[in-house]
Amino acid sequence: MKLSHIEHIGIAVKDLQSSIELYEKIFGIKCYKTEEIASQKVITAFFRIGTTRIELLASTDPESSLAKFIEKKGEGVHHIAFAVNELEKQLDDARAQGIRLVNEKSEKGAEGLDIAFIHPRSASGVLIELCEDKSI
Ligand code: ZN
Repeated sequence: MKLSHIEHIGIAVKDLQSSIELYEKIFGIKCYKTEEIASQKVITAFFRIGTTRIELLASTDPESSLAKFIEKKGEGVHHIAFAVNELEKQLDDARAQGIRLVNEKSEKGAEGLDIAFIHPRSASGVLIELCEDKSI
């Protein structure tokens, strides 16, 4: 798998607006975008730090997997996203190696990126997101 950089770190929060204000205050950086991802029942807020971004995630539905994550573990780091090339091929290779995937096929994530998740059971307890980076 060819990884170029950590694309973003996803952080689960209960209240998006107050967390945006907190991050803006602590780091002196501005949230440049919020976006609702209906398919995942989340609303996201992004901060840019070099080539990496911070993605704050709040649930829009009490039945979402994010809401269940927060209920079980509280707020905090939810996933780490790596930028990869040829995402579908990476998923096929991972599957062939017996790696458990959350998504059998890629789907559209925030900012129109093709994304897919590797199950935490196959990644030492960390939910890993793979993001297609066409610039690699
Ligand atoms: Zn993400």
